[in-house]
Amino acid sequence: HSNTEQFQFQAEVSRLMDIIIHSPYSNKDIFLWELISNASDALYQIKFIALTDKEILGEGDNTKLEILIKLDKEKRILSIRDRGIGMTKEDLIKNLGTIAKSGTSAFLEKMQTSGDLNLIGQCGVGFYSVYLVADNVEVISKHNHDKQHVWESKADGSFVVSEDTYNEPLGRGTEIRLHLREESGEYLEESKLKELVKKYLEFINFPIHLLASKETTYEWELQNDVKPIWLRNPKEVTDEEYTKFYHSLAKDSGDEKPLSWSHFTAEGDVEFKAVLFVPPKAPHDLYESYSDANKSNLKLYVRRVFVSNEFDELLPKYLNFLKGLVDSDTLPLNVSQEMLQQHSILKSIKKKLIRKALDMIRKLAEEDPDESNDKDKEEVEKSSDDDWKRGQYTRFWNEFGKSIKLGIIEDTANRNRLAKLLRFESTKSDGKLTSLDQYISRMKSGQKDVYYITGASKEQLEKYPFIEWLKKENYEVIFFTDPVDVSLMKYLVDYEVKELKESYKELTKWWKSALAIYDVDDVKLSIRLADTPCVAVTSNFGWSANMEKIVQSQTL
Ligand code: ADP
Ligand code: MG
Repeated sequence: HSNTEQFQFQAEVSRLMDIIIHSPYSNKDIFLWELISNASDALYQIKFIALTDKEILGEGDNTKLEILIKLDKEKRILSIRDRGIGMTKEDLIKNLGTIAKSGTSAFLEKMQTSGDLNLIGQCGVGFYSVYLVADNVEVISKHNHDKQHVWESKADGSFVVSEDTYNEPLGRGTEIRLHLREESGEYLEESKLKELVKKYLEFINFPIHLLASKETTYEWELQNDVKPIWLRNPKEVTDEEYTKFYHSLAKDSGDEKPLSWSHFTAEGDVEFKAVLFVPPKAPHDLYESYSDANKSNLKLYVRRVFVSNEFDELLPKYLNFLKGLVDSDTLPLNVSQEMLQQHSILKSIKKKLIRKALDMIRKLAEEDPDESNDKDKEEVEKSSDDDWKRGQYTRFWNEFGKSIKLGIIEDTANRNRLAKLLRFESTKSDGKLTSLDQYISRMKSGQKDVYYITGASKEQLEKYPFIEWLKKENYEVIFFTDPVDVSLMKYLVDYEVKELKESYKELTKWWKSALAIYDVDDVKLSIRLADTPCVAVTSNFGWSANMEKIVQSQTL
């Protein structure tokens, strides 16, 4: 090799590779998933640049945005090639070894506690999963701005990079060659790879071809269906397909079903399609960098073209736990991300997304049989669907309840909707979670206030002498044990008034129209009155009744 240079892996990366190599982990398939999702990322990058610069794609095979998988049984090599953006020499050195990714230590920690390798992709170190199955890996890459280079490592603490003067020129893109270990022979079987592509990769939006044997020759065979799921009719997409799609979006190679999803088309002033998912689990660092990070986990597409992975302004911070995708027909293409970021249409998209997300969460609660108070009904209507829906809301609450609380504090416009999603334990909740509405329905006649107490744990609060008399008088007391709960209550003071306003909305609307001839400004619900059914008042900025009299006497 010419110009061969040797480099040491960054220390944590080296440790990570060591763990991977010695992992007893049985599901090694995830490496393929990681490689193809990297190929797909690289293809999206070039596709995005090509929007404004057609020339960049070059000509001939270079214009084909595809992924190619090849097997060499004799040499025991599995290779995966993409025609994506490619890597320069510097990229190879930095991205595959010397720059520490922020997720590395988080992943190491997780591995030690849970042994769950599936999260490797989410932690931004998915590439190294190749060492689950290979003892030597070559990465050949060609970027438009550099010559073709090879990166190679046997995972022994170092890697080499050299200018590639002996492999076939790639034109543009990356080829990863895995020299498979003795015990990983199954990945040299065509049938195994076809099965994996079907299982994990159907939702990669680029064609994946496998070089398959056809009697005496080999031919490229298309393996996946490239019609994006979000363009399909929701009625025709199965739960299993949504689950797979979720895993490809979330970079999670496991197979846990998301807690919920919502697939819809918005029409009217803004047109877009979206799929939103509530993940099965909260990421480890969801609230760690909450105050400064405002990256939503929604992918943004404009007319089927991928624009961005982490777009601010699509969702408020407290909903950043959602994963999903938005494909807008209304946003302009061919403008910079900065300009898109400020586009007024984004505001309307955001508003609709919030509404849909909160609807989805509300439904999760409504459809959970455990949430229902009506025990008899529960026994009668039992479908198989109930089994999986049972306890879903509690699961949701345990994972993401804090997000709902933060929402109540931050999102004034949706505060009431969010308050309905709030759950807590109380002196009467019997070890289960209960809601504000349920609390209100249990209130004693004449009870005007909601009682709550904050502290470190329910066990501790139950013993508090402060609530003795309330318990004795049969008043229900809410236990708030999360540090955010203390500030939460401030924002909930008018919950019930808003509730009432909502339930009397039709009546007040009717009154207003009925009184229109009298020039009535508005008809509002009041909790100030005890026996009198209604009263005429002046508005905050209007004249008082007395002032009105004076003015009238002057003009007459
Ligand atoms: P992540 O994909 O989460 O960034 P990985 O460990 O999978 O983490 O990959 C590390 C980096 O290596 C990527 O961010 C990318 O810059 C680079 N890379 C990996 N595979 C490719 C590829 N096929 N084409 C171009 N760049 C790649
Ligand atoms: Mg990756």
